[in-house]
Amino acid sequence: MKTLVRNGRVALDGTLQPLDVLVEDGRIAALGALEAASADRVIEAGGCYVLPGFMDFHTHVDDQMGPFYLADGYESATRVALENGITTLCTFVTQGPGETLLQAMATARAKAEGRSHCDVLWHLTPTTFSPEDIATLQALLPGGYRTLKLYTTYKRAGIFASYDRIGDLFRRLGPAGIRFLVHCEDDGIIGAVDATGLDLSRALTHTLLRPEEAEILAIRRVVDLALAHRASLHVVHVSTLEGARYLVANRPKGDISFETCPQYLFLDESWLAREDGHRWLCSPPLRGNRAPFLELIRQGAADVIATDHCPFCAQDKDGWNRQDLQTVPNGMPGLGSLPHIAWKLWEDDPDRAALGLATHVSLNPALRAGVGHRKGALRPGMDADLVVLDPQGPERPLRSTSANAHEAYAGFTSTLAFRHVLLRGEPRVRDGQLTQAQVPAGRPLQACPSDFLPT
Ligand SMILES: [Zn+2]
Repeated sequence: MKTLVRNGRVALDGTLQPLDVLVEDGRIAALGALEAASADRVIEAGGCYVLPGFMDFHTHVDDQMGPFYLADGYESATRVALENGITTLCTFVTQGPGETLLQAMATARAKAEGRSHCDVLWHLTPTTFSPEDIATLQALLPGGYRTLKLYTTYKRAGIFASYDRIGDLFRRLGPAGIRFLVHCEDDGIIGAVDATGLDLSRALTHTLLRPEEAEILAIRRVVDLALAHRASLHVVHVSTLEGARYLVANRPKGDISFETCPQYLFLDESWLAREDGHRWLCSPPLRGNRAPFLELIRQGAADVIATDHCPFCAQDKDGWNRQDLQTVPNGMPGLGSLPHIAWKLWEDDPDRAALGLATHVSLNPALRAGVGHRKGALRPGMDADLVVLDPQGPERPLRSTSANAHEAYAGFTSTLAFRHVLLRGEPRVRDGQLTQAQVPAGRPLQACPSDFLPT
């Protein structure tokens, strides 16, 4: 089957070019002025941008988080993803108490397979580090597992790693080619906050419990460790101007990247001050004084824009006793809003916005996830994950998730319309709706965990 996407403006190497795109056998076959007669199927893209499929580099789905279970499973998350041009969902496998990482990976894969509408890639969160565990992580690399997530906080959840531990892992696994995704909030600073006298019935107090200094210090410590050990580092959900500036200043010295999230750009702590402010509790918290941070990100400072999509059921979010905000589940949805909010960074210049998406929501995340050879750009031989994006569709409210969770971007609207989304060459979305909702076609991008079990 040959498909021709014609008359669109195609994002290619940081420019927009009037090109036709020929797709064959799930891959990009050719770019240029091409004859419609040579194709079995023609997709008109006049007036639209033709962009590489998007990737949300940071999402949480179908997982237990403390006492709560996430509102989105693989089916609902990948549905809202693909309907908004996201052809690859990156999410996490966290090794739980009493299980091996391989067992946790097999469980996640069983949840995802047959239910995912877009492709899925897992970042791994190991929580035990015996010599066998380290050997397992090294053995997983050729199977496409290149990214490990570490946390500088969350002792109670059993996922905390000390700076010594992080440095040790950088030293032992960095040379093997593993990239480290690190949640940077210094646990010492957070632990030293004196909560007596603080009004824990107000969501805004969250900003005092997890202050900016905690993120800034952890970023400094982790960046310095990565440079010292020449490890590849990606700092997730950066929310502070000073933290971002430290990363920008040190990026030329090593293999360092970072992401920020829509909520740190277009929401601020005033949302926490609302009567229902607990619905916007996430960690790191929403911050104040967003203008200089927004301007830095507008200039392209963040390698990746990703959501940290972490939706909880409305009743779980609202079910706290209004006395201790620390009992509210931390996280909010964002997945379906990602391209719409990223677009807003540059909405005064639509061409720049389209290229911004191609760089920060397609190319860079694909490179950092280790799949840049097949995802993230429209080049011959690569997967034909492709978005035909009309910037002038009807205005509609943002919808971050189809699950029963409070919308994080209440009152926000977008005119971006996803006329067509192709997943590995197959048209799967027409005008923002799945065309074959009963036939999920997403695939895991990594080898089956059973391939790594000892025989
Ligand atoms: Zn997260």
